[in-house]
Amino acid sequence: MSTLRHMPADTPPSAAPASWAPEPALWLNRFAGLSRELGERLSVPLGTPWEGDPLPRPSWVATNANLARELGWPEHWDHAEAGQGASALKVLSGNAQWPGMAPMATVYSGHQFGVWAGQLGDGRALLLGELDTPLGPQEIQLKGAGSTPYSRRADGRAVLRSSIREFLCSEAMHGLGIPTTRALTLSASPKPVMRETVETAAVVTRVAPSFIRFGHFEHFSYTQNPAEREALQALVDFVVTHHYPELLDAPNRALALLEAVLQRTASLMAAWQSVGFCHGVMNTDNMSILGLTIDYGPFGFLDGFNPDHICNHSDTQGRYSWNNQPQIGYWNLRALAQALLPLIPEAKGDNPVVVNVLKGYETHFPAAMRARWRAKLGLATDQDDDGKLAVALLEVMAQGAVDFTIAFRRLAGWRSDLPPEAPENAPVRDLFLDRAAFDAWALRYNARLQAEGSIDAERAERMRRVNPVYVLRNHMAEVAIKQAQAGDYSEVQRLHRLLQNPFDEQPGAEADAGFPPDWATSIEVSCSS
Ligand code: AMP
Ligand code: MG
Repeated sequence: MSTLRHMPADTPPSAAPASWAPEPALWLNRFAGLSRELGERLSVPLGTPWEGDPLPRPSWVATNANLARELGWPEHWDHAEAGQGASALKVLSGNAQWPGMAPMATVYSGHQFGVWAGQLGDGRALLLGELDTPLGPQEIQLKGAGSTPYSRRADGRAVLRSSIREFLCSEAMHGLGIPTTRALTLSASPKPVMRETVETAAVVTRVAPSFIRFGHFEHFSYTQNPAEREALQALVDFVVTHHYPELLDAPNRALALLEAVLQRTASLMAAWQSVGFCHGVMNTDNMSILGLTIDYGPFGFLDGFNPDHICNHSDTQGRYSWNNQPQIGYWNLRALAQALLPLIPEAKGDNPVVVNVLKGYETHFPAAMRARWRAKLGLATDQDDDGKLAVALLEVMAQGAVDFTIAFRRLAGWRSDLPPEAPENAPVRDLFLDRAAFDAWALRYNARLQAEGSIDAERAERMRRVNPVYVLRNHMAEVAIKQAQAGDYSEVQRLHRLLQNPFDEQPGAEADAGFPPDWATSIEVSCSS
């Protein structure tokens, strides 16, 4: 097992190592290698070697023991003394380096809110390097470790408030089984950071096989410089070689990559919709080339169901509302396709092969979405009208702003052998204001279940594996943030543990499974972070 390479064989798993750092030879840093290879010929280099701005008096808010274990790190890695260079706390708050790292900040561009925004880049992210781990090669990135060449006029920092949200939501999404960047650590500092008010700084350590975004490709496309064209092809080759090796022999790698990313994005959109997750800032620079959920900002999970829900207070037009997300996913894929066009020579004008690949979204997304709704309804077979059945339920839910998470979870206990008005079905039925409309739907549901010979107990079990009890509602994050801002990190840590198992009811967490309090509607989350 490769784990052995990460931990000396004579270290008992529970012993606190006196000192620890990843072995220098485990740092692969292939993206840094690509950046060096492309060199100085580009108008702006792909990446710039960089270091974090030291963060005064850092301390842990929380660390992710599960992820550390998956990375093959020894127990107590987060409390080991300075090893070959420095302690994890120092390194992962941007204050020191471990031997073998190749920290850098990278450039990308993108469309923000539908408008070409030009050059952006890692304004506050620092890629420490890429580490060989039992999970495969993983990039380790800090968010909030200070300004970089791409910070423009901003400070390169992240505040504790938004860092807690990212730390918790990454793990919540992972717990839900939805592809996402992970969060390994959250450290805080008393350093003041100016937002609407003065807040304090924090750093999240993120982990993913790659942090490459659609925007990286857009960056090297919007120019006539031949070196930039070469960089575009090199980036495609890099991503295909390391992350989509099954496409290596494709006649046109850029086209094959577009198709693969389209499929992953379609299924990611369906996954988000199915748990009521709203990303909030689906700009092309926030879209992962691996189809991961990335850049948690003003995200939110639906409470009372409203398809037009806008989670980002700065999104005045509702471009990124829950209902719009799948369509925006497609819009972003078109921007990616546009960026890849120079590598896909064909007839002039609209490139028919690219148009054809993009058209695939019209089947991939609905198919992925239907599969999700079917699973959420506990349907074991695939019938033509299943999509309609789900939409009909959503319509009744929208009329009464029925709680999205609670409704689907309670539906697991639905008795299909009884009429809707049976007392056993009250926990679901009572959620709906318009009982007649709900009953009409419920009779269809009963008939559909009976038609496939569904067994309630088995269906309940299936449904409880896809309909979570717990999602990171804004008010839950808010309570954890308030306490953390007062110096108490226990609620952050409790929610972190809770959300790792969102499908299992956990003792003492009844309130987290319940309706949001009235004050939850007053929470405003914006791009300020
Ligand atoms: P976002 O909307 O968070 O995806 O950010 C858009 C761009 O602004 C990205 O290139 C970020 O790295 C950059 N950015 C956001 N906040 C900051 C900050 N406080 N300092 C520097 N750059 C930032
Ligand atoms: Mg971003």
